[in-house]
Parts: sequence; C-alpha cells; structure tokens
Amino acid sequence: MTTIPERFDVVVIGGGPAGATAATDLARAGRRVLLVDRGGRIKPCGGAVPPQLIEEFEIPESLLVARIDSARMVAPSARSVDMPIDGGYVGMVDREVYDEWLRGRAARAGAMRVRATFERLAYDADGGVRVELRSTAEADAGTVYAVEAEAVIGADGANSAVAKQCIPGADRIRYVAAYHEIVRAPRRSRGAATVAAPAASVASPRGPGGAEPADYSATRCDVWYQGTVSPDFYGWVFPHGDTVSVGVGSAHKGYSLRAATARLRAAAGLDGQETVRREGAPIPMKPLRRWDDGRAVLVAGDAAGVVAPASGEGIYYAMACGRMAARAVDAFLATGDGRQLAGARREFMRAHGRVFWVLGLLQHFWYSSDGRRERFVAMCRDPDVQRLTWQAYMHKKLVRGRPFAHVRVFFKDAAHLLGFART
Ligand SMILES: Cc1cc2nc3c(=O)[nH]c(=O)nc-3n(C[C@H](O)[C@H](O)[C@H](O)COP(=O)(O)OP(=O)(O)OC[C@H]3O[C@@H](n4cnc5c(N)ncnc54)[C@H](O)[C@@H]3O)c2cc1C
Repeated sequence: MTTIPERFDVVVIGGGPAGATAATDLARAGRRVLLVDRGGRIKPCGGAVPPQLIEEFEIPESLLVARIDSARMVAPSARSVDMPIDGGYVGMVDREVYDEWLRGRAARAGAMRVRATFERLAYDADGGVRVELRSTAEADAGTVYAVEAEAVIGADGANSAVAKQCIPGADRIRYVAAYHEIVRAPRRSRGAATVAAPAASVASPRGPGGAEPADYSATRCDVWYQGTVSPDFYGWVFPHGDTVSVGVGSAHKGYSLRAATARLRAAAGLDGQETVRREGAPIPMKPLRRWDDGRAVLVAGDAAGVVAPASGEGIYYAMACGRMAARAVDAFLATGDGRQLAGARREFMRAHGRVFWVLGLLQHFWYSSDGRRERFVAMCRDPDVQRLTWQAYMHKKLVRGRPFAHVRVFFKDAAHLLGFART
C-alpha cells in the first residue's frame, strides 16, 4: 500500500456541509488539510436553509434555487394554517450544486481534495493517526492508500464509519428514516405563480368536508402533520424551482415511507408529475454524548448526531458544528492536548442545546397522535407563535426582548396541552 508522503495536520473525512466548512476554516487558519469525499451520490435532502446560514457562512445568493415566503401546516383534518414570513425568506439549495461549491471553497482556501472512501484508521506510536483510504477517482478507482495526520475530523454523515470506529456509543444513535422523491414542479408554477390543486387529507383523499382548498405554490413550504403521512414525524412538499422535494420521515421500523410518499403526492396534487429521483437516508435525532476520542479524532455534523429534533433541520447545524470542530482541532494542534477536542461539543451545546431540548419535547408530545397534531397545527394560527417560530428558525436564537410574547405563548401552549383551548 502506498502512503502519500506529505503529513497533514488534519484529514477531514466527508465533504458535506460539516466537513467542507471545517476544512475551509482550518485551511484559512494555515493548517495543512486533506478533504476526503467519496463522491458519486447526491445527499438526499429537502434543502431548506435559514438566512442565518446564508449570512454566517457567506453563501452567495446565486446558490438559492428558490426563496420561500411562507409555510403551510396541514392538520389531520386537512385544515391548514399558513404562516407567512414577515420580512425575510427561507432559502432552498440544490445539494448537488451546494455541496460541490462548499468543497470548492475549501480547495480555494488551500485544502487538498481527494475522492476516496474512508476504510479505517490506526493510531501511531508518536500520537498521530494513519488513515486508510480507497480511491473512488476515475483514474485509480479501488486503489487503497494511506495518509498520515495529527488529527482527523469525521464528517462522514449519519452512518459515519469514523464515529463507529472511534467514538464509543456511536453505534447506538437514534434515527428517523427519511425518504423523498424529487418531482418536476407543475409547469405554471415555475417562476413564482400558484397552481390550484385538489385539497386533501391523506386519511380521506380529495378533501373531506371542511377542508380548505390546497394548492401548490413555488414560494411556500408545506408541512403535513397527519398520522397517515407519518405516525411520528411529518411529510413535506418543498419547492426547488424546476423541481419539488416531496417526502416523509418516521422512526417506526417497517413503516413504508414509499407508500406514505405516494399518498402525500396524491393528496398534494403532485401524483401526475414526472419523478426525477427517489432516495432516502437516516436523520439522527440526538447529539452523541461524546464527539471525540480524547486523542486525535473528532466527529461533526450528522456524524455527531446534530440535527434539530422536530424539524429535522441539519444543514445549518452541520456547518456550525464543522466550524466549532475546526476551532477545537486548531486548539488541539496548537497545544497537543487531546482534551481540547471536547471543546467542540461544549461550544455547540452551549449555543444550541436548549433549542434542541425544547424541540425534542415538542416532537415527543405533539407528534404522537392525530388529536395532538390537530391541536399543534391549530396553535400555529396564533400570531405570537408564528413570530417566535420564524424568529427562532431564521436567526437561530430563542428571541429575547419580547418577554410578554413568551409568557402568552407559554399559557396558550399549556391550555392546548391540557385540552382547554378549542382547535
Ligand atoms: C430526506 C432528508 C431531507 C432533509 N431535509 C433537510 C432540509 O430541508 N433542511 C436541512 O437543514 N436539513 C435537512 N436534512 C438534514 C441534512 O441533510 C443533514 O443534516 C446534513 O446534510 C448533514 O451534513 P453533514 O455534512 O454532517 O453530512 P452529509 O451531508 O451526509 O455529508 C457527508 C459527506 O460524507 C461523505 N462520506 C460518507 N461516508 C464516507 C466515507 N466512508 N468516506 C468518504 N466520504 C464519505 C458523503 O459523500 C457526504 O458528502 C434532510 C435529511 C434527509 C435525509
């Protein structure tokens, strides 16, 4: 087996949002970085990103394939609530283009890029690591070679091989299985117009009594909270310009996500549209208790389990986590102290731990039956709930400065929880 002669400061495994961000930051800090990605597969993803991500990670607006100005929450009864975004938008990215742009930025910052699959790593006697890779590049596909480094960041996604090998407990991570179909957008909607489509509850297709008329809009994300779409998560219809992501998530083993997606497409009036791709992937639902091995290896992004419960939002958190991983590894390289690696998790949980905890409770309670889902959607009619939800999503902060709104939402929430409020 050949060994690349150069010794790197850091080998980053995985060039998704987490790994590419970590590689960019470390290269900008003057570290010798190898960014390894196996390539060959587009990450299955709805592609919704908040303005905070665009600003914080300097993402050019040209990467946005759609701008979303509202969300529609659909209840089990097929009643729906529209939540307009007041003064802003949610961006939609195409992961094939987006991820490649992030990897390109890492290379422009000075990281070396290779196409290869991580096989295994071994610790050197001198404290470094030796990483075995199998090339997936056309020129030498299948060739196994080794690289040496002071540190490794495992950003290789929800099924992280790095985490499974190096981080205790990584094999017990909890997942929601997610599946989506990329379909052609209705022709008249390409641009920004709205196309009328039949209203529906998936439970009783084509609009039971009392259903409001549903329609497809290229600037609105639809979120379906119905037990027949998902018994414990939700279904979505996310516009992407010329295409639409229609999908479903569930942690229930044996639940047919494909059949549920077919029902959702029919209910959303998209069953006649051409299917471009079908694909699925797990979404981790809880951050791992440990992200590092105390010696040289740190995991980030989905590999560390950082996806927001209830929403399944992971792109922003992967990038934030990648940045914190880069900072922790930089401190490790500067001091040689393996304890520095734990700084990434500490920093992340300080910034986002509370939001994850609240969202975990929300998912656990409100997604557990159709009765609760109905009340949850009804609650979204409240202007305070809408304002606080959008502000928290858009800016990644629990909003301070409006304490009375929080108190009002708390009491309304409690009333719904206890069943006093009408739906
Ligand atoms: C169906 C679905 C819909 C979603 N919708 C949204 C959404 O709308 N908005 C949102 O914010 N989040 C969404 N998410 C979550 C989001 O996609 C992830 O949280 C995010 O991609 C995590 O980024 P990451 O860099 O940690 O991992 P990934 O994006 O999974 O990147 C991992 C990278 O590692 C590479 N890799 C994997 N294994 C190896 C290996 N052994 N060797 C070398 N390279 C390897 C892969 O090629 C990949 O490029 C969705 C997820 C799913 C499954």
